[in-house]
Amino acid sequence: MNNLAPLLAREVARRRTFAIIAHPDAGKTTLTEKLLLFGGAIQLAGAVKARGEQRRARSDWMKVERERGISVTASVMTFEHEGEIFNLLDTPGHEDFSEDTYRTLTAVDSAVMVIDAAKGIETQTRKLFEACRLRDVPIITFINKMDRESRDPFDLLSEIEQTLALDVTPASWPIGMGKTFRGCFDIFKDRLVLFDRGTTQEQTGIEIKGLDDPLLDQRLKPDEAQRLRDEVEMARGLMPKFDLESYREGHLSPVYFGSAVNNFGVGELLHGLAEFAPSPRPQPTTGRKVEPMEDKVSGFVFKIQANMDPKHRDRIAFVRLCSGHFERGMKLTHVRSSKQINVHNAVLFLARDRELAEEAYAGDIIGLPNHGNLRIGDSLSEGEPLQFTGIPSFAPEHLQSVRADDPLRAKHLGKALEQLAEEGAARVLRPQIGTEWIVGVVGALQFEILADRIRTEYGLQVKFEPVGLYAARWVESDDPAKLKAFLDETRAAIAHDHNGDPVFLARNAWHLDRAQQDHPEIRFLKTKEQA
Ligand code: GDP
Repeated sequence: MNNLAPLLAREVARRRTFAIIAHPDAGKTTLTEKLLLFGGAIQLAGAVKARGEQRRARSDWMKVERERGISVTASVMTFEHEGEIFNLLDTPGHEDFSEDTYRTLTAVDSAVMVIDAAKGIETQTRKLFEACRLRDVPIITFINKMDRESRDPFDLLSEIEQTLALDVTPASWPIGMGKTFRGCFDIFKDRLVLFDRGTTQEQTGIEIKGLDDPLLDQRLKPDEAQRLRDEVEMARGLMPKFDLESYREGHLSPVYFGSAVNNFGVGELLHGLAEFAPSPRPQPTTGRKVEPMEDKVSGFVFKIQANMDPKHRDRIAFVRLCSGHFERGMKLTHVRSSKQINVHNAVLFLARDRELAEEAYAGDIIGLPNHGNLRIGDSLSEGEPLQFTGIPSFAPEHLQSVRADDPLRAKHLGKALEQLAEEGAARVLRPQIGTEWIVGVVGALQFEILADRIRTEYGLQVKFEPVGLYAARWVESDDPAKLKAFLDETRAAIAHDHNGDPVFLARNAWHLDRAQQDHPEIRFLKTKEQA
């Protein structure tokens, strides 16, 4: 025991760090806005977007985002509601940005899965769900757009159960849909919440005593009340009861129905998060698990982002705190370099704006202005040198060469690429032979974004060109001599990434297969843990 224990216990218990996962268009942005509105962090829903618009107007590279109608920048929003502190980590939904998304999911303790009631499970819903499952991240489901013609609720629930192999239990039950959507029966709280189209207020429910309560008949038409009774009874018979442990282990998802744009069901969802979602969980390191209530501060970098504020050419390393009581000005060890860093200008991410972090606890995300010394996967620790694990890096699936239009500025380009690589925006490879840079990305759209960013942030016109490469694999071996022999022998196909780690560049599938067959002592890795 230490004297920090009561403080840490209280602060950790009231934190919920979560992400929203959704297929594009399901309503993630809308739900985010409404959650912030409920959380009292902003005055008007729409402010998130409005702020985004201002940013976009000032920053050219966001053009891609605007044109494509996709969100490429993930951010962190912190808000408070009824004494709980919510840290909402935004994840880009577009498939080209999955690497960023995977890493963000390593920094949350739970997730909200938003599904469009007319569409059900979509490709990106499934991918993101699988990423959550890898880490047993518990999931609350929100079936959105009930104000539109939707699929039958039983049909939707059974699809979630079947396609994701996830138990579901309804937390609320919809009464009608589309034009005849009347609201929901809150199964957990025994309340009737009637739908009021277009309100910005939290829609309060009517307390009732079980489904037999005559109040139900006063508020609903006879056929609506009857149908609700039948359906809830049937749902109860068909689906398991809510079980907190099963949810926390990631096996069972409570399902809320609502309409984010109409502010409906959002309050119930938030209450569900407060009541059921786990507070910060222990985090794995190479040696042991770190408990959130340990008194020494620790955390890991899961994301680096450049130019969040175009007025400052800054880069911010996002650190998920895993333990302790963080205070401004404290010294933390940067474990990879064993150097001390003095954290006097950390930033917290309040929805309204960025604020200087005075203090923070496990589950919170702090932003550290960064001049290239922090990389994704790095650990920070006040005490022993802990190395957090499980932050993935993916081998790029698309490879192109890049050169500056002005050959005299090649060195400048090298610097830009190095920074983008450290940020995790791309894999930058320097072949052993030759002078060109090879850039690898997980999704092809990233080339456009990179070119745009290099132009606006570094003032360089560049061209990406196909190079006829099929795949890149990190190469490792338990035997350093064998690795060296391999690297020498395949010199023409070897490059180094920004960490200096060797990478094998395969021209085609056959080339890769052949190298693997010929060199059983070498491991060819598609993903690598950042360390
Ligand atoms: P995202 O791509 O998942 O972030 O989705 P958005 O939040 O941008 O929403 C996509 C579209 O669906 C927008 O036009 C929203 O206004 C609309 N939308 C979101 N929630 C609802 C809802 O509850 N009902 C209806 N009818 N439309 C909604």
